[in-house]
Amino acid sequence: MTLLERDPQAPTAWRGNLPVTSRYTYGLAGEKFFRTLKDEGKIMGTVCNNCGRTYVPATAFCERCLSELTEWVDVGLVGELHTFTRLFVDYDGNPLDEPELVGFIGFGDGGLIHKLEADPDTLEIGKKMEAVLKPKSKRTGSILDIEHFKPAK
Ligand SMILES: [Zn+2]
Repeated sequence: MTLLERDPQAPTAWRGNLPVTSRYTYGLAGEKFFRTLKDEGKIMGTVCNNCGRTYVPATAFCERCLSELTEWVDVGLVGELHTFTRLFVDYDGNPLDEPELVGFIGFGDGGLIHKLEADPDTLEIGKKMEAVLKPKSKRTGSILDIEHFKPAK
């Protein structure tokens, strides 16, 4: 059967293992974002001087106007809670002993999804949340260098 004879609506399946390997990289902007988080304990964004948007986490290009973004800005460790939820199961669907809180914390025109350490009854949209970083000696250059976010004082 040729490609033209094949029914494009017919389901297809691959039986067996796919011999595929891959390596994920952060990319140019992600590399600098995570290196600065690890080495300096800062959350960095990039600014589009054409649109005025601030991307957090930092990106190399503006998603609106495709300008290359070369201006970096320290957005601080305090962001604004945009939404949150309680998790009752882990990523494999196993029940958690205690529910976990996860939220989206806005910085600039973006933000980060991360764990929250807070009394859920005190959380509200718009609340200022502060990143709690691991000690510098324990940071590895990942998003988990932020342990969690807590209500800012
Ligand atoms: Zn732009």
